[in-house]
Amino acid sequence: MTLDEARVLATECLLANGCDAANAEAIADSMIRAEADVCESHGLFRVPGYLAALESGKVNGKSDPKIETSAPGILRMDGDGGFTPLALLRGEKPLAELAKKTGIAALAIVNTYHVSALWQEVESLAEHGLAALAVHASKAAVAPFGGRKPFFGTDPMAFAWPRRDGPPMAFDQASSVRAKGEVLVAARDGDEMEPGVGIGLDGAHTTDPNEILKGALLTFGGYKGASIGLMIELLSSSLIGEWAAYEQKERDNNDGGPTRGGELIVAFDPDRFGEPGGWLEHSEALFEELLSQEGTRLPGDRRLANREKTLMDGISIPQSLYDRIVELS
Ligand code: NDP
Repeated sequence: MTLDEARVLATECLLANGCDAANAEAIADSMIRAEADVCESHGLFRVPGYLAALESGKVNGKSDPKIETSAPGILRMDGDGGFTPLALLRGEKPLAELAKKTGIAALAIVNTYHVSALWQEVESLAEHGLAALAVHASKAAVAPFGGRKPFFGTDPMAFAWPRRDGPPMAFDQASSVRAKGEVLVAARDGDEMEPGVGIGLDGAHTTDPNEILKGALLTFGGYKGASIGLMIELLSSSLIGEWAAYEQKERDNNDGGPTRGGELIVAFDPDRFGEPGGWLEHSEALFEELLSQEGTRLPGDRRLANREKTLMDGISIPQSLYDRIVELS
C-alpha cells in the first residue's frame, strides 16, 4: 500500500467503530508515521486493540482534550478519556510556543489511553528548534530487578535534538530489553525472542514469547534500567496524577486495548540556555566526532532511512492483518 492508502484504511476503520474524525485522523496519523518508519509494533498492528477499547466502552472515541496552564511553565492536558494521539496533537503547538517564551516548558497529559511510540512527539517538537524529552508509564509487564512479577510498564523514554540539516536526532526506547509490542508480534508470528528478554511464570529465563507474556519482561541493563523505569513511573504517574504501571494492571478491564496512562513532555529552547545558535554548531561537531568511529550510527537513523524508502515504495503488512482491518471496517 502507499502511505495514503494505509491512512485511509486506518481512518475509515476507526470512523466505522466509534471514533469521530478528529480522533480517527490523529490515531491513523500516529500509526502511519510508525508504519512509514517501519516500527511495526506501533503501526496498523494496533488497530484491533484500539477497536477493542472502543467496543468495551473503556475509551471515548469522540474525546475533546482540553489544555490549561497550571503554572507559568506548565501545561496540563485533560484527554477526556480518549486515546492519546489527539491530546498530543493539540498539545504540540502550545508547548512549543510556551518553551520559546519561557526557555523551558512541560506538558502533562492525563486521562488518556496510551499505546503509541514516543519519538513522534519529541521529533515534532525538535522540528520547532527545541530539545524535547518524553516519558510514559505503560501497564505493568516488567519485573523489578530481583523480582519475578510485573511491576514496571515497558515505560518508554524518548529524546530529540534539532539538526542543522535534515530531521532531528530522536531516540526512543522502552526501559525493558524489548517493547511488549515486539513480544506480541513474535507470538503472533511464531518467532522466538533472543535470550534475556524475559522470564516465565516460574522466574526462569525463556525465549518463548508466549511464556514471557504470561511471566514478565526484564529491564534493560539490570538494576540500572530498573532505576530508569522507576524514574519514568514517578514522572508520569505520581508527579502528574495518573496511574502507575501496577495500578493500570489492577484497574484495566483487559479488553486488549490501550490502558489509561499519562505522559510528561519537557521542551527546552537551546537558544535560551547557552549561546544562541552556538549550541547547534557544538552539537553538530559532537555528532560528527561520534560518527567518526567506525561501526557507529545515530539513534533514529534506521527509522529515517526506512522513512525515505517507504515514501517511494509504500509499506506492506501481513495479509491476515489487512483482511482483519477490512472486516472490522
Ligand atoms: P529499540 O530497542 O528497537 O530501539 C531503541 C533506540 O535505540 C531507538 O531510538 C534506536 O534507533 C536506537 N538504536 C538501535 N540500535 C542502535 C545502534 N546500533 N546505534 C545507535 N542507536 C541505536 O526500541 P524499543 O524496543 O526499546 O522501543 C520500541 C518502541 O516502543 C518505542 O518507540 C517506544 O516508544 C514504544 N513503546 C511504547 C509504549 C507505550 O505504552 N506507548 C510502551 C513501550 C514502548 P532506530 O529506531 O533508528 O533503530
